[in-house]
Amino acid sequence: MSVAIAVFLFCIGLAVGSFLNVVIYRLPRGESIAWPASHCTTCNRPLDWYENIPVVSWTALRGRCRTCRSPISIRYPIVELITGALFLGAYFAFGLTPLLPVRIVFACAMIVLFAIDLEHQILPNEITLPGIVIGFACALFLPPGWKSSLIGLLAGGLFPFLVAEAYLRIRKREGMGMGDFKMLAMVGAFLGWPLVWLTLILACVLGIVIGGGALLVSRRGMATRIAFGTFIAVAALACEYFAGPATRLYDGAVQAYLSWAGLQS
Ligand SMILES: [Zn+2]
Repeated sequence: MSVAIAVFLFCIGLAVGSFLNVVIYRLPRGESIAWPASHCTTCNRPLDWYENIPVVSWTALRGRCRTCRSPISIRYPIVELITGALFLGAYFAFGLTPLLPVRIVFACAMIVLFAIDLEHQILPNEITLPGIVIGFACALFLPPGWKSSLIGLLAGGLFPFLVAEAYLRIRKREGMGMGDFKMLAMVGAFLGWPLVWLTLILACVLGIVIGGGALLVSRRGMATRIAFGTFIAVAALACEYFAGPATRLYDGAVQAYLSWAGLQS
């Protein structure tokens, strides 16, 4: 572990987070990602370079446009900081390995899907469908391996789809949307089948706890629907980053116990 590399990756993460903000804003609105350059979404004035520095600019401008004074969402610095943190976390979790860029790409996709689903309740095919293909293609050479990826892709997408179809037939109401299945298939393609199951279970627990809590607070009854994709994103990131360390911790604890008990030298 090198501090210089960690700081470098964090800064790259902040800059990439700035780009993810553009994707999060423009993709659901059908605007081009590449053109035009960043501009104020209220007065349309193109931003100067010093207004485009991640986190720093938002803080210096106190969250307002320099000319029209309209508020700039706090989502911008939050997305930048989270992206920076996930770049840094990926370095600790995966080291400087070929898996590092793959897992970073996956984390970025989860951030974008989380933010878009939270605001618009959609999970764009532009992210999930290429995500399934890229996840499987990388698994041909890297962990979790193509078999686990393929099973994960099918199990993640197909099984919940069948459950939801059954639910729809019986209850005549939709429990999950098509976007959720494509997103789960993407998670399965990248992380493999054991972790896509864990993701689904964790997302359901989060949905019940947070969704249930929100229902109690809002008192608007079942009409309040928190997008399930946001829970899938958080659960998938938790599985991606903590599955390895948690397994090692568990193995270490078991070994320590066995040697303490004199069952193994
Ligand atoms: Zn403005």
